[in-house]
Amino acid sequence: MRKLIIYILALVLICFLIPILFTTGRKEQTVAKEITENEVVSETVTMDYDYREYNIVRLLHTETNEIEEVNLDEYLYHVVSAEMPANFEKEALKAQAVVARTYTIYKIKHKNHDNADICDSHLCCQAWISKEDRLAKWDESERESNWNKIVECVNETKGKIITYQGEPINAFFHSNSGGMTEMPVNVWGGTGYPYLQAVETSGEDAYTQYASELEISKQELVDKIKEKHADISIDWNVEKPIEILEYTDGNRVRTIRFGNLNLSGVEVRTLLGLRSANFTFEIIGDNVKFFVKGYGHGVGMSQTGADSLAKQGKNYEEIIKHYYTGVEVVNF
Ligand SMILES: [Zn+2]
Repeated sequence: MRKLIIYILALVLICFLIPILFTTGRKEQTVAKEITENEVVSETVTMDYDYREYNIVRLLHTETNEIEEVNLDEYLYHVVSAEMPANFEKEALKAQAVVARTYTIYKIKHKNHDNADICDSHLCCQAWISKEDRLAKWDESERESNWNKIVECVNETKGKIITYQGEPINAFFHSNSGGMTEMPVNVWGGTGYPYLQAVETSGEDAYTQYASELEISKQELVDKIKEKHADISIDWNVEKPIEILEYTDGNRVRTIRFGNLNLSGVEVRTLLGLRSANFTFEIIGDNVKFFVKGYGHGVGMSQTGADSLAKQGKNYEEIIKHYYTGVEVVNF
């Protein structure tokens, strides 16, 4: 890159400066100044990227209610390091950087906070962590290398975002899909987002986020559902007191019957605090045991899936195109 800049500068020198040297001294000075300025400009271009009106992100810190104005890529160092383990493959971290950048620009375009563009909560927007807190959570021996790796992954994808038909996408992501991602209509209802389809991924069972269990007593189960549905009653003596009636496109529970009551898998996930709506169950004596696959809503890119694909040799662009259907990765 430096060689290229020197080469271009040399060309400029030969084409413009040398002929002018033979004219007046005043012109010589002007041109020399222009070249110095150009040099500075090209340095800036390689160091930074102009996101125009999206250069600055107004970040809401939910604990203090303060709004901080931060440079977009600088903000992403804190997001990527909060959202994905630093020991994941570089191509997975780069995919996460592009996804987070796209998600941020989408949020800036479609305002959902009054005076801020985005907040620091993963429950609402996407996670953010201060550098101090982030470093403190890493072992001292890997603090510097981990942080540098994150910074590199953001910088190496500078300017890149994901678009569908020319527009930045709503780049949802989650921890682990359990083997198959989900369509947003099956999680939040509504329509739209043709780029968010249910897609299969492999290798996610190698991660701790893949499988989890919850065992609770029959009484506790009824009590939890009663918080929202006072009229529930389950006769535990019938053949099927609980029954999964239908599955979604992403293999999650669409409808499940508890006694006299039909509930969506998404609602059961919330009521019982399951890691995902991809679950089966077993009645064991006085207890009900839930076996859960995956972690998160399941829409968009799976982070552990991204790492798994990177381990299989896929680059960040291939990873993105695997999880978001029909999209482009472009310079914004
Ligand atoms: Zn938010």
